[in-house]
Order: sequence, then structure tokens, then C-alpha cells
Amino acid sequence: ATHRTRLMAGNWKMNKVPSEARAFTRQLLGRLEAAGRPEGVEVLLCPPFPALTAVHEEIVASGAGDWVQLGAQNLYFETHGAFTGEVAGPMLADAGCRYVIVGHSERRHLFGESDETVARKVKAAFSAGLVPILCVGETIDQRRQGQTEAVIRRQLEVALEGLDEAAVAGMVIAYEPVWAIGTGENATPEEAHRVIQQVIRQRVRELTGQAAAERVRIQYGGSVNATNIADFMALDGIDGALVGGASLKVDSFTAIVAAG
Ligand code: PEP
Repeated sequence: ATHRTRLMAGNWKMNKVPSEARAFTRQLLGRLEAAGRPEGVEVLLCPPFPALTAVHEEIVASGAGDWVQLGAQNLYFETHGAFTGEVAGPMLADAGCRYVIVGHSERRHLFGESDETVARKVKAAFSAGLVPILCVGETIDQRRQGQTEAVIRRQLEVALEGLDEAAVAGMVIAYEPVWAIGTGENATPEEAHRVIQQVIRQRVRELTGQAAAERVRIQYGGSVNATNIADFMALDGIDGALVGGASLKVDSFTAIVAAG
């Protein structure tokens, strides 16, 4: 049991056209509302940009808008201007987003985002009134070389630089070991718990202070599914999950929310 609201988030990645996203959201929200809000749990849906409006309309129409939120998967760090193909924070906020994922490993590794780019995006999210979900985690090579802790400490140091206590307390950090994303491989719940509490929360304590470390929500992500979610949620300090593949099916995501 924790005093932090657990955030059960679905990252749909590049899946579902807007009409599919609308139909899926309607079905999912029907199931979630029938089951009822689990105590202390918030749900987040992160569709691709073109589906944000459709999903937002469904959330508003459902009446579940107090516990089901909308988020985007990325943003650009400028607010507007000649940046063809990019999407700015104020656009996301106006489209109904409350959250935005920043520094997902696919952004870092497939699209070359550096720690510095990620840091600018975190600040841009706050400027737009969005809550950033900052993703951190080590690759398989870094893990094998015993660099997990150093990599995560560095990612946090750069991303949190210049943020005050209130900002850090209000944000979300996702521990996503890169080797566990979309691979069907998990960190063990104990290992995820150790990294979350002794590396991430400890680093936040060092950088921003005890109050922020107590309040910041830290999720686990990496091949979470309806079967293994309970083992992660049983551990105090794991404040929810960032879910990829298993968030694309009504049954599995409903079960994941119920375990939150
Ligand atoms: C993710 O991309 O954030 C993720 C955790 O993906 P998956 O659940 O599919 O491993």
C-alpha cells in the first residue's frame, strides 16, 4: 500500500488508426466502468497523434474523465514554428492531453534522442502544463557490463537538471529496461523494485530532495501483461506500469488496470 496514486498507462505506439482507436476506447471504457475504479488507481491512454481527439472525445463522453486520462507518446521542445512534422506541447494540451511520454527507449534508440534532447522535452512538457512521463533504463549491453546504475543515474541527472521540487514531485518516471521492452522478457519484480527504490528514487532524493523522492511516481515497464502485473504491483514503491503490447487488447488492459 502506498500513498501515491498508481498510474496504469497504455502506450499504443504506432498502432490503431483513429476509427479503431475510437471503437477500442469505447469498448475499453465500458469494461473499465463496469468493473469500477480500483482504489488509488489512475488510467492513462496514449494513442498516436492522429487518434488523440477521437480518444479524448470518448473519454469525455464516458464520464470516466476523472480517472481515465489522455497522454501523447512524444512532443517537440519548441512551442510552434517552422519544424515540419513535429508536434508541440501546447497542441497536445489543447487536444486534451494531461500527460506526455518523454524519452521512450524507442525515441532514444530508433530516433537518436540524447539525454539533452530528453531534458529539453521534459521542460517543454511542464511549460505546456503537461505531466511528463520520463522513461529511463539500460540496454542489454549496459546491463551485461554492470552499468545499469551509472546509466540511470546519468539519465536522471540530465533530465532533472533545473527542475524544482514541485515539478519533480509531480512528474512520473518509468523504469524501462530496454532489453525487456517488446521482448516478452521481464526484469524480475524484485530487480525492478531494487532499481526503482535504490537507484531511481535514491537519485531523485540526491538531486531534488526527500520530499520529491517521496512523491514522485515511478512505474515499471517491459513486457508487463495480465499474468505478471500482480507480482509487480505487490511491491511497495512500484507506482504503476507503462504497458506496450498488452495495452492494445481490451481484455489484457482491463485485467492490468484491475491489478493496479
Ligand atoms: C513500452 O514500450 O513502454 C513497453 C513497456 O512495451 P511492452 O509492454 O510491449 O514491452
